This record gives sequence, C-alpha cells and structure tokens, in this order.
Amino acid sequence: MAVPALDSLTTQVDGRVVRPGDEAYEEARHVYNAMIDAHPAVVVRCVGTADVVATVRCAAESGSPLAVRGGGHSVPGFGTADDAVVADLSGMQAVDVDDERRTATVGGGATWGRFNDVTAAHGLATTGGIVSTTGVGGLTLGGGIGYLARGYGLSCDNLLSAEVVTADGTVVTASASEHPDLFWALQGGGGNFGVVTRFTFRLHPVTTVLGGPMFFELADGPAVLAHFRDFIRTAPREYGGFPAFQIAPPLPFVPEDRVGEPFVAVVSCWTGSAAEGEQVLDGLRQVARPVAEHVGPMPYAALNSAFDGLVPAGLQHHWKAAFVRELTDDAIAAHMEHGPKVPTVNSTVHLYPINGAVHDVAADATAFGHRDASFAPVIAGMWPDPADNERNTAWVRDYHAAIAPHSEEGGYVNFASADDQPRAGANYGANHARLREVKRRYDPDNLFHLNQNIQP
Ligand SMILES: Cc1cc2nc3c(=O)[nH]c(=O)nc-3n(C[C@H](O)[C@H](O)[C@H](O)COP(=O)(O)OP(=O)(O)OC[C@H]3O[C@@H](n4cnc5c(N)ncnc54)[C@H](O)[C@@H]3O)c2cc1C
Repeated sequence: MAVPALDSLTTQVDGRVVRPGDEAYEEARHVYNAMIDAHPAVVVRCVGTADVVATVRCAAESGSPLAVRGGGHSVPGFGTADDAVVADLSGMQAVDVDDERRTATVGGGATWGRFNDVTAAHGLATTGGIVSTTGVGGLTLGGGIGYLARGYGLSCDNLLSAEVVTADGTVVTASASEHPDLFWALQGGGGNFGVVTRFTFRLHPVTTVLGGPMFFELADGPAVLAHFRDFIRTAPREYGGFPAFQIAPPLPFVPEDRVGEPFVAVVSCWTGSAAEGEQVLDGLRQVARPVAEHVGPMPYAALNSAFDGLVPAGLQHHWKAAFVRELTDDAIAAHMEHGPKVPTVNSTVHLYPINGAVHDVAADATAFGHRDASFAPVIAGMWPDPADNERNTAWVRDYHAAIAPHSEEGGYVNFASADDQPRAGANYGANHARLREVKRRYDPDNLFHLNQNIQP
C-alpha cells in the first residue's frame, strides 16, 4: 500500500495504528488460530465508529484487502491477511443493558464473556456460543448456535438492530424497519455486507442453570447418541445441550486412571426449575451410567466459560461442519468410527441440535440457510504442535468425508475452514441467491471478501 494512504489514516483515527516494525506489530498481526501466519500492511485498533469509517475508506481508496476482526476466532483467520488493512474492533467492547426493554447494545468487537458478565448482572442473557472468548460479531453474523438456541433461537434471531459501516464508508442502522434487506442479510450472511459497530439484542431472563458434562463409555456411545436424537425432538425448550466426543481432561471429577481417554460426552444446560432439570438429566443417566460427570447449578455465564481452558489462543485449528436432517443409525455408526479417534484434549466433536425455537423462525425470514436441519455436527480439530498438522487435519478430513453421505451439502459457515470457500454457496444454503442480490446492492466491488464469501 502506498505510504500516503497510511499516513493519512494515522491522523484520522483515535485508535492505535500498528504497522510492520512497530513493537506491537507481532502480536497485532496474529489471530486465535496459530496456523495463520499473515503479515498485514496495517492493523487499526479501532475505538469507535469513526475509526471504522476511516479504516474502511482507506482500504477502499488504496485498493488494499480489508480484514475485519472482532473476537479473532475465525478458523480460516479472516481477521488478518497479507498486505491487508485490518479493522480490529477488539477495543469496542462496551455493553449497555436496557432493563425495561430487555435489550443489550454491544460494541462490534465484544466477546461473549464480556457480554454475559454484563447482562448477568441484570439477570438476563441471550444466545451466544459455547465458550466465552468468541466474538459476538462473527458468531452472530454467521447465525450463532449455543446453549440457549433451543429456547430462544439463534443469536441472529435475537438481533434487533445493527449499526453498520458499509463499503462506501456510510453509517446506517439496519433493523426490521430500516434497510430491512441488509438486516436480513446480517442474520446469517456473515461479514459480507459491512462492519457492524454496534449490535442490539433481545435479552431473556436466564440466571442459574443446571449444567455441565457427563462422560460415557465409548461402548455406550451408540445408545447414548440414539437416545439423545430421540429425546431432543420433543425435549422441553429449557434444555439446551449436545452430544460430543471428548478426551477426558485432568480434572478432579474424572477418575485418575481415565484421564486422557476418549469418551462420548453429553454437555447439558437446563434453564428451568432445578427439580425438573434433575429429572430430565436423569433420563440421560438411565441410558448408561456416566463414568464421570460435573453437572450442577451454576451461573449461565460460568457454564459459558467452563470449557475456555481447553481452547486457549495459539492452538492450530482445522474444522469441518455439516448439517443433517436426520441423524440416522448409519450416521451414528460413522461418528462412532471416527469420533473416538479425537486426537487431543483440545479437539472435540459437537453435534448441536437445530430445533426448538430455531425452527419457529421461517426458513426465509433470516439469511441463516439451514433451518430444516435437525443437527449441526462440527469436527473441531485443535492441537498445540504444528508438527501434528498433517495427521490431525487428516483426522478432520476423513471424519468429514465419512459423515458426508449422511449430511446436507452445506455446513455451518462459522465452522468452515479456509479450504471450504468453494462450498460457500452450499453453506449459505437456501438463501444464497437472495444474499447475492443484497451483496450486489451493498458491496458490488466485494470489498468485504475476507469471509465465507458471497460473490456479488
Ligand atoms: C473455540 C471456538 C468456539 C466456537 N464456538 C462456537 C459456538 O458455540 N457457536 C457458534 O455459532 N460458533 C462458534 N464458533 C465459531 C465462531 O462463530 C466463528 O469462528 C466466528 O467467526 C467467530 O467470530 P469472531 O468475531 O470471534 O471472529 P473474527 O475472526 O474476529 O471474525 C470472523 C469474521 O467475522 C466477521 N466479523 C466479525 N466481527 C464483525 C463485525 N463487527 N462486523 C462485521 N463483520 C464482522 C468478519 O468477516 C470476520 O472476518 C467457535 C469458534 C471457536 C474458534
């Protein structure tokens, strides 16, 4: 990029402008996935909407690639790129709760940890992800699957409005009544349409939940998975949870001689009365006796950060995703063949139910393209040592290939890897054609292309 464009950027923003050679550059160029080793031209640590406008204009005018970073969790590392102008929103973390309206307005770079901590003080929450370090921005724009989705819908279903900096540097508010087509596209269409500097969400009364993991013997896996499939079809909406494959971590609730072994787990979250929740969770214990469990009452925000320690920043990541309409016995058999080979304690496989309140919303009411699914499996390969990259990416790839015959063509955009770009159309599913129309209107030159890209 020509130096004059950068120099003018420095005078236009309040946040720090980090360039190669600066002390902060090495840290600023990296994202959560340590496999990504990009060298951007500049990282702008935006502190407000005006900084974002200046950064977007600088990228557009200089013809540089523009990377947008919120929580930095994108597995393909979309929050950084070689020679890019990076709009880093991680300093924009403010969360304001309106008790009367039961809404929260949050900065475009906030994490779910920050969001939950603030809303918890008001006895409120909305659907976020499973760990607290993920960004509200990327997660919501791709859909947003989490513990509360069966009860309250996807994160994007709870979005009420967004302040957006569009490709030409204009600031607009998108909601059901203002720029409704843009608002529709933001609810599942990813970062393709602009930089969201503020999100406003609907909140729900959620305080103490009954939650945590149960670990079952692999031999009980087929029965546990088949039971979960049948149970979740009609389970009360207070139940949000998912089956998983997980290596037991060295924690006090795991028998010492079983630490490091793979298990079929069920991670639960119950938002209703404790007595009723105990009964529902007992149903799982009737299928097979858990080898270990750590289930009890805890603040929702605590459950939302319970697994953070397993997934610190700086791991290598390769993920693949699918949607399934029916989790057939054959699909369960494929999971039972590959799930137990989960290679590290950081890696995991989750089978997220897509039903309850997610199915209340019409398939074309938001851009999220797979509401006809019943499960969204994700194979999340995460490990510390780059020397294991080939072996562990092969595990993810082979596993995904094995479940593909039992799955829809597309997977959840937020769980896709860099090599999934050719599948982006299928990943956006039924709404891809309309997303392209909106893209043509708001970003005809594809300035926002470092994402699961929708071609104008
Ligand atoms: C450990 C881990 C756990 C996860 N758990 C879940 C989960 O439980 N549920 C779930 O649904 N997903 C989950 N994800 C996937 C997650 O939703 C995506 O990785 C998402 O892109 C992360 O958002 P981010 O803001 O942290 O990422 P970033 O890398 O900062 O952003 C990713 C992309 O999102 C877009 N973006 C981010 N913020 C903005 C913004 N303010 N305005 C415009 N565009 C923006 C940009 O295109 C950006 O390139 C998880 C990912 C990881 C690594």
